[in-house]
Amino acid sequence: MSNLKETLSKDNDSEESLISQFETTLSIKPSSNEVAENHDLSLDHTVLVGNNSVINYTRDQSIVDIAELEEEEQLLEQIPKFKTKNRYKLEPKLAVKKEVENTRNPSNSKSRSPSPFVDSQYEKILSPSPLIDHSLTRFTKSFAEFLNSNPHIQRESPRFIHESLKTLVILSPYSAEHAFGRKWVTKSYLSTIFERPQRLLASCIGVSAAITMFPFYYKLINSTKKGSIFSSHVRKIHGKNWPKKLFELCIDSHEKLQNDDLEVPNDWNVGDIYLTPKTLNAIEGVIGTVETAVDSLYGQEVESDNHNLAFVVIRPPGHHSHACLPSGFCLLNNVQIGIEYAFENYHISHCAILDIDLHHGDGSQDICWERAGFTGDYGKEDSDESDEVKQKNPRDDYGKRFATYPKVGYFSLHDIKSYPTELGYATKENIKNASTCIMDHDLNIWNVHLQGWKTEDEFYKHYKTKYVSILNRANQFLNNAKKEYDLEYHGYLNDLAKYNKYLLKPHLYNQPVKKPQPPLPFKPLIVVSAGFDASEYENPQMQRHGINVPTSFYATFSKDVVKLANIHTSGKVISFLEGGYSDGALTSGIFSHLIGLTSTANSLTSPSRNSYGSDDSHDEGVDDVLWNPTWGHEQVMKELVKGCKRTWTPYKNPRSDVTVWANEVIKLGRSMMPNAILPANYIYHYQEPEPTTLLKKTRSVSPELIDGNIVSHKIIKEIMDSEGNIVEYSHSPLKKDPDDNRRIMRHTRSYYKKLNNNDEAPTDNSKSQLTSNSTSSNRKQALREAILQPIPDVKYK
Ligand SMILES: [Zn+2]
Repeated sequence: MSNLKETLSKDNDSEESLISQFETTLSIKPSSNEVAENHDLSLDHTVLVGNNSVINYTRDQSIVDIAELEEEEQLLEQIPKFKTKNRYKLEPKLAVKKEVENTRNPSNSKSRSPSPFVDSQYEKILSPSPLIDHSLTRFTKSFAEFLNSNPHIQRESPRFIHESLKTLVILSPYSAEHAFGRKWVTKSYLSTIFERPQRLLASCIGVSAAITMFPFYYKLINSTKKGSIFSSHVRKIHGKNWPKKLFELCIDSHEKLQNDDLEVPNDWNVGDIYLTPKTLNAIEGVIGTVETAVDSLYGQEVESDNHNLAFVVIRPPGHHSHACLPSGFCLLNNVQIGIEYAFENYHISHCAILDIDLHHGDGSQDICWERAGFTGDYGKEDSDESDEVKQKNPRDDYGKRFATYPKVGYFSLHDIKSYPTELGYATKENIKNASTCIMDHDLNIWNVHLQGWKTEDEFYKHYKTKYVSILNRANQFLNNAKKEYDLEYHGYLNDLAKYNKYLLKPHLYNQPVKKPQPPLPFKPLIVVSAGFDASEYENPQMQRHGINVPTSFYATFSKDVVKLANIHTSGKVISFLEGGYSDGALTSGIFSHLIGLTSTANSLTSPSRNSYGSDDSHDEGVDDVLWNPTWGHEQVMKELVKGCKRTWTPYKNPRSDVTVWANEVIKLGRSMMPNAILPANYIYHYQEPEPTTLLKKTRSVSPELIDGNIVSHKIIKEIMDSEGNIVEYSHSPLKKDPDDNRRIMRHTRSYYKKLNNNDEAPTDNSKSQLTSNSTSSNRKQALREAILQPIPDVKYK
């Protein structure tokens, strides 16, 4: 074992070319670097050992040559039809529909089993990873260790007068349950799956970087609440049918994946969307986390007990998801669901969405059109809506109805080259959507395109002259809304005066005067769609046009968002994780974002604790720049990224400030979500309770032992099955890979591709034809043929 450790730490211990000017807010001393074997939670779910030699598949090893991939892509990639108007049938199967409709109040219990109407056979399949650390015991312990090793931090770190002024970071541990599950794909295909659970580990390390700089500015919580996919706020955004269909697809995916079949309808873009039964856990966890975030801003009776700032670490992302069209990696529109929940529970009347993901949030924008009373491009159809909605707010002859509360504005900064104008998707419609600017007709939409830059100065010129307009337009939206409200309220007061006069002398009136209704109080919120894929450290396979942003952008922008929030929302902002796919983009981007969010709150700290800034920086109107430019340095990012590898071991004798700090950051970050520490080639794999063929041995581990602390060193070979048993495979599931010459469809962000000439969505018949073949190899062959079927005569619509 010690040999192994040495090998693994070899790379980590080289400290060459470290930047000399790196500064932490306070000097940080190393805490113990002795990682006892039984403290390492890096359980391996797929990596296996043969002949006593350890094989660690890492992303680096499995990733294919980029040039080769691109060549292959050019040769083989058919251009899928972009978002046909023919929606895939969203109607669920009758049986599920019945069950769903018979289920009353599915969202009433926080600790309910995820889906009350799921057949009991699925209980085991859906049981969440035993590695989930519900009460953050590991993080609490690591944080205490960090403080104990650095007693001066306790004394010198600035802190807020009230606990509620801390930026709340809400982790969604069930988010890691959504993982790619087609065990028959090749390693090279697997390496193109960018939206992966390991993103959460990188996110945690980004969170941890901010915490180590300002340990008392952040509060970390786990949201283990499960929201219902059938709750009213989900249905109001997505209609009746899509949530049911999604639910059904997740359940059905179990059998399909077990049979090596494709689990998503094969007219979908199977390169971007994947499902497993446990995707349900992730979705319900995301909905619950979003609810928790909104509750944490408004749920306390005493206003000063509520937080102002929350960042939610969730996946899959949501901003491409239309009301009735999942798209990109997005299954549900998390942000819009959160806004609807805030309206239902806390009467939020207006909300500005600020979207800084690399890609245009077409789904979020489309839902804004629907909210304004228009029909969405992929919006709810008649059958998606309740009779009550249709009766209360019918459409006129032109399909328009009254705009409804909450009124939501969408303000986006994105790269028009990345989306939607890549090869094959550059439809007129999509370019127009991603460039729409309108501030009327109940529509408040502003789209700004990122520009190239060579120096940061040039970038910030763009920022000050162009990009800032999304903040200005959000400001205009909320100002106008406030004016409108004031006007309405003024009218209401006039009517009330008339009504009171009438009450005094009703006999003077020919007709009774009606009691006026007050307008809905103006209560705005600001939310951020925080994607980090525009980062300078995003993988070039994801950001293919070189139009990036410097890491400091996230701090600057977030600081400005909070300024806007201080004007309109008493400082309340919820930030939702959207994109960001490389470990470097996520760690550095989230680090910068969290520092920026907390920057303007700096003046609220208790006095004379501040060892890093001077008092004059707290004056109104003066920028409090907590972000230190050295923190965005490439070398800093590289150090943090080392911690995103499952097999990370700390530096034994860190010598420079960067490595001492990185050790602490990574230890803390990895303690946050142990169930997200997965090998790069992790594939969801359901293990039957009594596997006989694959097992060499099974031994039992009690769940307490796992949740508590003590799981023996598992860098290598063992995996844990759903019962908490440790299982050792005799061979890797990956080695079962048949040759897969299927074309690679990566991040095409399209959802549909044309199957054949007659444009039909696949029916259950076609599926059963595939599955009725007697042997699984026949079935696989049939399936591949269906997938590989060329797309004839592609025409752009
Ligand atoms: Zn994106």
